[in-house]
Amino acid sequence: MKVFKFGGASINSIDRIGNVAKIIQSYKGEKLLVIISAMGKITNALEKVADAFYSGDKTTALLLFNQVKEEHILVSEKLTKQPAQGLMDIFTEVEWLLHDKPVRDFDYYYDQIVCCGELLSTAIVSNFLNSVDIKNQWVDVRDIIRTDDNFRDANIDWDFTLQKVQEVILPFFETTGIVITQGFIGATDENESTTLGREGSDFSAAVFANMLDAESQTIWKDVEGVMNADPNQFPDAQFISRLSYAEVIEMAYFGAQVIHPKTIKPLQNKGIPLHVRCFLNPASPGTIISNDPVHQLPPIIVLKNNQVLMQLSSLDFSFVEDVLAVKLHELFLVNKIRLNLSQNGAISLLCCLDDNPAKIEKLALAASEFFDVQVEKNCQLLTIRHYNEEIIKTLTGGRVQLLSQKTIATIQVLMKDA
Ligand code: ASP
Ligand code: MG
Repeated sequence: MKVFKFGGASINSIDRIGNVAKIIQSYKGEKLLVIISAMGKITNALEKVADAFYSGDKTTALLLFNQVKEEHILVSEKLTKQPAQGLMDIFTEVEWLLHDKPVRDFDYYYDQIVCCGELLSTAIVSNFLNSVDIKNQWVDVRDIIRTDDNFRDANIDWDFTLQKVQEVILPFFETTGIVITQGFIGATDENESTTLGREGSDFSAAVFANMLDAESQTIWKDVEGVMNADPNQFPDAQFISRLSYAEVIEMAYFGAQVIHPKTIKPLQNKGIPLHVRCFLNPASPGTIISNDPVHQLPPIIVLKNNQVLMQLSSLDFSFVEDVLAVKLHELFLVNKIRLNLSQNGAISLLCCLDDNPAKIEKLALAASEFFDVQVEKNCQLLTIRHYNEEIIKTLTGGRVQLLSQKTIATIQVLMKDA
């Protein structure tokens, strides 16, 4: 049993959906659980629908949703040369909601609206595969993945989900062999849709791989595999053929966009290898990620833009470690803010955060009760694993370094234009 995950770029055109079919066909006779993201940039488009709805602009919400709807109907009809099957129920679910007035939290509505992207894309691909005789079973993953109601960042109820996987999913492998389902979404015990956080499909795939004791998981992307830097930022980025789970979880944690950071644990816990392969070049083996240690890696570079340096200095010379540490911890927790890098002195704390203006403003305001707050925007956080002096010099040269930290394996520098 293998688990495949195809990202949104792999199905953003009729040709590419045909290409996905070819890849699946080449595994004829094997048991596959296939997770497919929403088409292209549909998740972003649905986020705009949710924003418009929540701001009370029903007309715009319906208009934007109609565009999403037409796009899917067109693709579906082109692929199967038939009226789009099974999509109408999914559209109706959202349209009903859009006619209501928002009375609950934004995050709840976000999940009820945004979840339809994956339901639609998987229904389309499943219908198409069946029409070209690649028999498969479509599954609404909301009947399988049970979560709590922490909308937009829901947590999986592992026991309930495992039981469903065994009861519902396993039998399909005896009959159809191929199961097509969604990543990124789940449902609460009250049948409300939930999402697991942006780019969460990699993680969903890993949850299935773990629960099904899969022999491997493959993430099909539009790049050769894992690179030592983002090729959009560093055109001479190098391909890496083998990596350890430990290396990848660190890279993802520091902000490399390769794989969702939660993906590694479920795979590592069962020793299931993760393959990152290119759907445009399926003959190439891509990157293999496993428990095997890998030596002599090139420097691995992660460059995060839109960083903020916040300096919090205690107003009355209280030590940060004492009372203030608890207050600080609370502030970050309540505002769901992660520290990308931090360093404290006696009476002040320096921290580097993602620049989410609304969150930063809220945090700064709350913190100003106990601290003098200084905020410096437009910073970049550079992380280099397996660094050498030369690469540090090349990448930080001519920049103002605001904060840096170095271990044997990793250096992080928060910097700004001079
Ligand atoms: N479609 C979702 C997103 O774009 C989930 C995913 O693709 O992993 O964030
Ligand atoms: Mg994606």
